[in-house]
Amino acid sequence: MVPAARVVRGNQVDAAITVPVVIVGGGATGLCAALAVRDAGVDVLVIERDRQPMGTTAMSTGLIPAAGSTLQHAAGVADSADLFARDIATKAKHKVDQALVQRLAEESAATIDWLVERHGVALSLVDGFIYPGHSVLRMHGMPGRSGGEFMGALANACAAAGVDMLTDSVVDTLHVSHENRVIAVGIVHPDGAREVIGCGALILACCGFAGNQAMVRDLIPELEHATFHGHPGNKGDAIAWGQALGAAMADLAAYQGHAGLAAGHGIPILWPLITEGGIQVNRAGQRFANEAAGYSEQAVEVLRQEGHVAWSVYDAARHRIMLQFDDYQQALSAGCILTADSPEALAALAGIDAAGLAATIAETHALVASGAPDRFGRSFAGKAPLTAPFHAVKVTGALFHTQGGLEVDGDARVLDGQRRPFPNLYAGGGAARGISGPGADGYMAGNGLLTATTLGRLAGRHAALSAAHPDER
Ligand SMILES: Cc1cc2nc3c(=O)[nH]c(=O)nc-3n(C[C@H](O)[C@H](O)[C@H](O)COP(=O)(O)OP(=O)(O)OC[C@H]3O[C@@H](n4cnc5c(N)ncnc54)[C@H](O)[C@@H]3O)c2cc1C
Repeated sequence: MVPAARVVRGNQVDAAITVPVVIVGGGATGLCAALAVRDAGVDVLVIERDRQPMGTTAMSTGLIPAAGSTLQHAAGVADSADLFARDIATKAKHKVDQALVQRLAEESAATIDWLVERHGVALSLVDGFIYPGHSVLRMHGMPGRSGGEFMGALANACAAAGVDMLTDSVVDTLHVSHENRVIAVGIVHPDGAREVIGCGALILACCGFAGNQAMVRDLIPELEHATFHGHPGNKGDAIAWGQALGAAMADLAAYQGHAGLAAGHGIPILWPLITEGGIQVNRAGQRFANEAAGYSEQAVEVLRQEGHVAWSVYDAARHRIMLQFDDYQQALSAGCILTADSPEALAALAGIDAAGLAATIAETHALVASGAPDRFGRSFAGKAPLTAPFHAVKVTGALFHTQGGLEVDGDARVLDGQRRPFPNLYAGGGAARGISGPGADGYMAGNGLLTATTLGRLAGRHAALSAAHPDER
């Protein structure tokens, strides 16, 4: 169930120190928020439970979507906030907070330009493939396409900007005045020592509840057989505080799943090999869903197959696209990627039905030639047929992070049950309600880091003002 995160009511608290802005959690949300606070010349403290701030962000591919960035302009990509907002809403079947979607789409380019130009984060536009749901090239990533690199760059920027960090420290208590103003946080250290730190404003950047098995079981039962591949420190604290405070919350069953976690190895095999024409088959060598609809919703389809596994099957052309990803290089080194000159030989290596796989690959050739949608609604029009040498990787369905959470306005201010903002409480990234609708199928690649980076930046900017001028906000 929800964790033991507590709210203590009262207008006085005995705090060791007071900092204008305190941030709970040191992932992308927390560090982007901290940079924005420092840009306003205001002091900030990030409190992180781990020894190093890493979070889900460091496990990620670090690809951040934006519409209208300087990098897109330089590459001649025509995009707009309206098109991006439409793509997000369409993927989520319009079951989103449309105003928030529009705001994020409009602010997305400014976030990328700000990270690159002001804070020296070496993002570039990702070329060569488009994730399901996006109309144009709009992913921005680090050179090795890794979230670890992104976190390293954010940590360097925070050090240069004078962000204070308190690590090895779990925030477990919010001290909140009778007027709903957060006045301090209570912290517990690994040796059990406790501390209270006062704040002018508080930003919840502590992601969702993917690391809390009981909450996942209660709120997302379809993930019973999923492998958890997210950050274990995300226990649902923001939701517990939200409940105690009477905050508005939504989409608690929403999540980012992934249908391509190398089974037994825990290495994500990213989706370009599928979107560019690869397929997924079960032990019988048969396809079972429209795998190009999205990697998130495909996770439960994989989990429904025998042994809760499937095989992603592709060829040398898609293999070359995949070589740009650090994760894929790790999968190669770990021996996850099988290679053979015929479907039958590949099936023998993988331990799946040879006749079934050969028939399925022959069927995809016919689908490429006809361009017609198949029985699952997928079209292979414009894709090259799969040709020898073939590759396969055994995968299972995974939970990456949860997408439901606290409802926020366009400045990332947490809303109460009547949709009024709390005076000085903010949330972003996985702590806030996302833009992916109520389930798994609304997640469009990039929704996680869009809400982390942009809501983080907006929260930091507004919290700095709120802390400096508490009576005007
Ligand atoms: C394998 C993988 C690949 C992904 N690839 C992408 C991608 O390419 N693009 C994309 O957009 N998204 C991607 N995602 C999703 C993305 O990583 C997340 O949406 C994003 O990192 C969430 O950022 P965050 O700051 O909200 O949370 P996190 O990065 O998880 O940070 C939260 C931090 O809060 C800390 N914390 C929690 N509770 C407390 C507490 N009580 N006190 C102190 N500290 C606390 C945690 O230790 C953690 O460090 C991927 C995810 C995974 C797992």
